[in-house]
Amino acid sequence: MITSKVLSGKDTAVAVYESLKNRLDVLSEKGIVPGLCVILVGVNPASQIYVKTKSKKLKSLGLKSKTIYLEKDVLQTDLIKIINSINQDLNYHGILVQMPLPDHIDSQKIINSIDPIKDVDGFHPENVGWLSIGKPRFIPCTPKGIMKMFKHYKIQLSGKDIVVIGRSNIVGRPMSILVSSNGMWSNGTCTICHSRTKDLDQYTRNADVVISAIGKPNYLKSNMIKEGSILIDVGINRVESDNDKGYKIIGDVDYESVIDKVGFITPVPGGVGPMTIAMLVENTIEAAEQYVA
Ligand code: NAP
Repeated sequence: MITSKVLSGKDTAVAVYESLKNRLDVLSEKGIVPGLCVILVGVNPASQIYVKTKSKKLKSLGLKSKTIYLEKDVLQTDLIKIINSINQDLNYHGILVQMPLPDHIDSQKIINSIDPIKDVDGFHPENVGWLSIGKPRFIPCTPKGIMKMFKHYKIQLSGKDIVVIGRSNIVGRPMSILVSSNGMWSNGTCTICHSRTKDLDQYTRNADVVISAIGKPNYLKSNMIKEGSILIDVGINRVESDNDKGYKIIGDVDYESVIDKVGFITPVPGGVGPMTIAMLVENTIEAAEQYVA
């Protein structure tokens, strides 16, 4: 039963980790330790933090995690050679190349060079195709984590009007596919909005569920939503603050403005973020399970 209007990604992630223990035990009995290899190009401070957090979580659960750090001017051909060698390495079931990559590298070519059966991010065109036809192999971690939260809190999307703001291949686009797919916790009617959408608030004001993934601090305000609606805030925005760090992380939703009006809401931090990491762990386990006869 849901006792609060705040949907906690932290709590949901704890439940996910608990449910993964048994799968890890089964793999362990077969002598398999799921392994993830992360490749980080250059020194983007935010990416370094993400990579460290992911690696720490995997190791704490007994999975293998290796990070390959490459100079920012690494040649695209050399990067592809490294990916090819991990494609062949049986110790690593999953490969993740941390985005964004420097401008001289074609990200799509890099994604295409990852073996689709090790593509735990779910960005390879083959995996996007499987998702689009309703037979997913690897589902991108952030939208997968959001679907898990709907399931965890028993929020049924069937028949609901859902607006996804943002159409990136990482969040918005796969999210729109998942909420509208024919499945147990889906069957929503989805509208996808982006920077060229005219009168965007006309869509959000009529939506039962709004999923915002645009990266604009405090963008979604009370006058843009319907009473009792469900808001999923994917945005991670660093804004100045007078705390010790000098900054804080906030979402796309103006939390104070909407909190009295919403039915449910995910906080930032503590909402979608922890679920993204939990789903990376789950996808790495799924990648290893492909090797079990
Ligand atoms: P992205 O690739 O930059 O895509 C942003 C999308 O938002 C684009 O489709 C863009 O439209 C749209 N957009 C931008 N401004 C808009 C506006 N004013 N009105 C309507 N649409 C607008 O970003 P992303 O990778 O999807 O990430 C989005 C946000 O989620 C970022 O804050 C990111 O840090 C965060 N994120 C969080 C997690 C997590 O685990 N919590 C994971 C991934 C990303 P166009 O296509 O027309 O340009």
